[in-house]
Amino acid sequence: MTTPMSNADAAARARAVIPGGVNSPVRAFGSVGGTPLSIVSASGAHVTDVTGRQYVDLVASWGPALLGHAHPEVVKAVQHAASRGLSFGASTPGETELAEFVIDRLRHGDRRAIERLRLVSTGTEATMTAIRIARGATGRDVIVKFAGHYHGHSDGLLAESGSGVATLGLPGSAGVPADIAALTLVLPYNDRAAVEAAFAAHPGRIAAIIAEASGANAGVLAPEPGFNRFLSDTAHAHGALFILDEVLTGFRVGAAGWWGLEQAAGQEWTPDLVTFGKVIGGGMPLAAIGGRTDLMELLAPLGPVYQAGTLSGNPLAVAAGLATLRLADAEVYRRVDAASDAVATAAHDALEAEGVAHIVSRAGSLFSIAFRTDPVRDYDDARAQEAFRYRAFFHAMLDAGVALPPSVFEAWFLTAAHDDRALEHVFAALPAAARAAASARP
Ligand SMILES: *Cc1c(COP(=O)(O)O)cnc(C)c1O
Repeated sequence: MTTPMSNADAAARARAVIPGGVNSPVRAFGSVGGTPLSIVSASGAHVTDVTGRQYVDLVASWGPALLGHAHPEVVKAVQHAASRGLSFGASTPGETELAEFVIDRLRHGDRRAIERLRLVSTGTEATMTAIRIARGATGRDVIVKFAGHYHGHSDGLLAESGSGVATLGLPGSAGVPADIAALTLVLPYNDRAAVEAAFAAHPGRIAAIIAEASGANAGVLAPEPGFNRFLSDTAHAHGALFILDEVLTGFRVGAAGWWGLEQAAGQEWTPDLVTFGKVIGGGMPLAAIGGRTDLMELLAPLGPVYQAGTLSGNPLAVAAGLATLRLADAEVYRRVDAASDAVATAAHDALEAEGVAHIVSRAGSLFSIAFRTDPVRDYDDARAQEAFRYRAFFHAMLDAGVALPPSVFEAWFLTAAHDDRALEHVFAALPAAARAAASARP
């Protein structure tokens, strides 16, 4: 295969054989326009496209690259695992080590968030399985989710699911049977009265509430203090379960995820089921469902809830995940927090200097910018903004060699590899991007 000469050539060639030229829609630059990047390699804080141009990367593979790209020790662990065979279709000691490690990390004092862990390959599978467990455990069918929260692309969870579908301007997805969609109640986020009303309207029918630990897929939108605990308490009061989706936040906002941050802030509560993905695989296809023993042991082969996977617990993915999590010490989180804070502050200052109406939404080290004046509290707020300004801002940053997420509805991701040089590059690019945002027209 000859290397294409430009990103445009690469995209055209891809479109001839891959729908839209992409294997996940947001990569197509639909909401920002222009030519999507075709990446050939990545190292530390940088990605390199087919033309050989380097960019400071603020996508980080949508979160997994917590340590930066191609961390030497993670690469070494994967190479070592590869030399011993790619997949066995049988259990491996590494899977047990990873489960032990994750269960131990999800701890606050002597209270643990989860007692058992099952590995799958994608976050979509993790949330799908968590819901199947909840339905199996309760004998109920209805699921409550929040507008703007993304839990993967399974049929029952696509309704009002944030970035991907918002970017395309779609309400949900064609191909989802109405009977399946009808089992999902979509509520406004951070709205306690709506949650109570849903339980009152559907007595004995709701199996579970599922929520992103902190909203981050319709722009960053933190739960109001106590909201997750309220969801857990309310679910339990009605015989339902609470599924905490930490696919994005887990091992990214801190060693014990968003749950850990809430515990450290003095909120004491324990989820029934937790889903993980992204950082847990360190860039390889790996995700997981964790939870209480009585719930997790409903899974086959012990119980009646079926779930399986030819490549589940893949040894290369487990090696990458274990190496990544072992390296993710307090210093790594300190660096990611500091880099995130520095970029969020600099972006705010640059936009402020140009008089561009905006709000920086934060949740731990996660942040995104919404082009509106009032704070964002729910999905309707997130959509009510001057998104065309992001298009101009994004392309000015890209021209200056900084790759932002190609949608205003995505969080910006920093890594422990974003050193002073990489950050200076971002800071230098911001004033011109802010000017482009200021002069943008719809
Ligand atoms: C990314 C994401 C998923 C889906 O994970 P995939 O690995 O893309 O299937 C689920 N939930 C949340 C909160 C996510 O951010």
